[in-house]
Amino acid sequence: MRQKRSKSYRKQMLVYNHAFKFRAPYQIIVDHEIVEVADHSGIDLVKYLKNTVQDEVKPMITQCCMQKLYESKNQSAISLAKNFERRRCGHKDQAIDPYDCIDSIIDIKGQNKHRYVVCTQSIDLRRKLRHIPGVPLLYMNRSVMIMEPLSNSSDAKQKQFEQSKLSGGLNDIKAGKLVKGGNSTGEAEKEKAGAKRKRGPKEPNPLSMKKKKPTAGDNKQEEGPKKKRRRKHGNKNSEDKQDDGAEDNTDNGAQPSENLEENQSEEKGTRDELEVGNDSD
Ligand SMILES: [Zn+2]
Repeated sequence: MRQKRSKSYRKQMLVYNHAFKFRAPYQIIVDHEIVEVADHSGIDLVKYLKNTVQDEVKPMITQCCMQKLYESKNQSAISLAKNFERRRCGHKDQAIDPYDCIDSIIDIKGQNKHRYVVCTQSIDLRRKLRHIPGVPLLYMNRSVMIMEPLSNSSDAKQKQFEQSKLSGGLNDIKAGKLVKGGNSTGEAEKEKAGAKRKRGPKEPNPLSMKKKKPTAGDNKQEEGPKKKRRRKHGNKNSEDKQDDGAEDNTDNGAQPSENLEENQSEEKGTRDELEVGNDSD
């Protein structure tokens, strides 16, 4: 049974980490009652908390809960609570009901803004806090610390989170961050992503453009040799030579190469003769 519970708590904390961005050491708000229970039964409260959330913890107690303990004059409970960090609640001048106090620091516009885990013996407070998504709730049942199962509001939020991930893929996770982190960073990320995407096509394009420009020039030069081949025949036929001159003004520049080609053509005489033969056919 213990192992089973431990496993389910671990899974639950993973949900809080994943969907609600909880991180160890977990800040755990303990109420005055749980301190008294721990003191009375002699259990190591911090150890229990650690074992339940299965990571490092940072227990905290509000000023109002502390005030309640002072009123009880339970010295050992007070000294135990003094080990915990005091959470300022703004009720120091006039302490309010400890449970209202805890509720006031958890429920910030319907969100558990500071990502507190709450360890309280008050059933009413736990019932209240179940309506706020992402509030891990702990309490003592005799000598066992219990973590409440994921509340309906937490479960709905978690499913919504998973759904957004499934439907949107990676982009939606960034979008999820946008909501919390602010639009400016998200836009910057989008711009970066856009720039990266642009870089892809841009990089090859200039290269291909560079190649294209010379090839465009080369084509003209290539046109020359093609014509030269004609001219080779043209050398034999004066009419062709005149046509070439009318088509292309670069004839003069191409002439030296023509001479070279003539030399080459002498070597490749047989090939040219074959070509001429084909042309004549
Ligand atoms: Zn308070």
